[in-house]
Amino acid sequence: ALTAGIVGLPNVGKSTLFNAITKAGVEAANYPFATIDPNVGMVEVPDNRLDELTKLVKPKKTVPATFEFTDIAGIVKGASKGEGLGNKFLSNIRQVDAICHVVRCFDDENITHVEGRINPLEDIEIINLELIFADLESVDKRLSRVSKIAKTKDKEAVAELAVLEKIKPVLEAGKSARSIEFADEELPIVKGLFLLTTKPVLYVANVAEDEVADADNNDYVKQVKDFAASENAEVISVCARAEEEIAELDDEDKADFLEALGIEESGLDKLIRAAYYLLGLATYFTAGEQEVRAWTFKNGMKAPECAGVIHTDFERGFIRAETVSYEDLKEHGSMPAAKEAGRVRLEGKEYIVKDGDVMLFRFNV
Ligand code: GDP
Repeated sequence: ALTAGIVGLPNVGKSTLFNAITKAGVEAANYPFATIDPNVGMVEVPDNRLDELTKLVKPKKTVPATFEFTDIAGIVKGASKGEGLGNKFLSNIRQVDAICHVVRCFDDENITHVEGRINPLEDIEIINLELIFADLESVDKRLSRVSKIAKTKDKEAVAELAVLEKIKPVLEAGKSARSIEFADEELPIVKGLFLLTTKPVLYVANVAEDEVADADNNDYVKQVKDFAASENAEVISVCARAEEEIAELDDEDKADFLEALGIEESGLDKLIRAAYYLLGLATYFTAGEQEVRAWTFKNGMKAPECAGVIHTDFERGFIRAETVSYEDLKEHGSMPAAKEAGRVRLEGKEYIVKDGDVMLFRFNV
């Protein structure tokens, strides 16, 4: 499964946030095939559409889509020098699909800051520089190999060389490779380099409880936003400490707590959704009387591949999919009514599934 890794300097609130994730997380018993790794927290993806479909269909069971966060501990500073735990830190980052970078944006004299002052931009830079150094090393290694092959006019090598030469000066200037706009034909080459600073990143501004309602006007958050914009990254603000409490509440108490904080949605729900879309994930639904369920797929996937998310047999034997959009189904109230109104389509092998499609797969066994 795709996973987002949580990173940050010590004492910024990572463990607090990760605790909130595991407390809010799904019961392992409901997902018997999931691996139980203490560094992984699996949460449900909040989705109002699933609640609405449940009201319409009244199934025996409703199963939300899930998403995994990985807690990346380890020493940050000096990581790119390749010593012990630092090395592990980088190899853990290498394994995740997206990065949630927690940044301390709260003042609290009782909680020591490792650098002795609150400065979100310098904090971000400390971690990013380690990743940039590691990437620079990868790029240099590739360069020495590829530049030789490129001399033979090998087409692929020439193309890769051009990409490497585009990336290198940016890294040398202390900037992440994600700040570069690559041409479409360069993207597969970039992907093949497995760099750390091209992974999608979400900056998580950890603000004080009394700042979270108006986080956009918090000076620290503003700084983080400006920086994120410069490297095509996103920012969300949360109060990790409050999230830890919210995660233990039932729905009603949660609503009261959120109201008291002055926010509409919990920071954790925002984080889950942002990470989900950051990874290019989307949701389709199956809606039977037994079970209404949300399934995760990658944007751009075709109907057979999406069927394969449920079971490989569904992909192999795929014939077609009865498909209706969530909006149309909701408007007409039931599958037969939607059919009557001509809103249910029969889609074939080439159909690119859309977020919110409600699907019934027909397949040969
Ligand atoms: P980590 O080292 O990044 O994992 O940081 P922790 O999650 O252990 O947090 C370090 C300290 O900061 C702990 O004492 C937390 O209770 C505290 N902390 C975390 N989030 C907040 C917050 O939003 N506001 C305040 N005031 N303290 C926080």
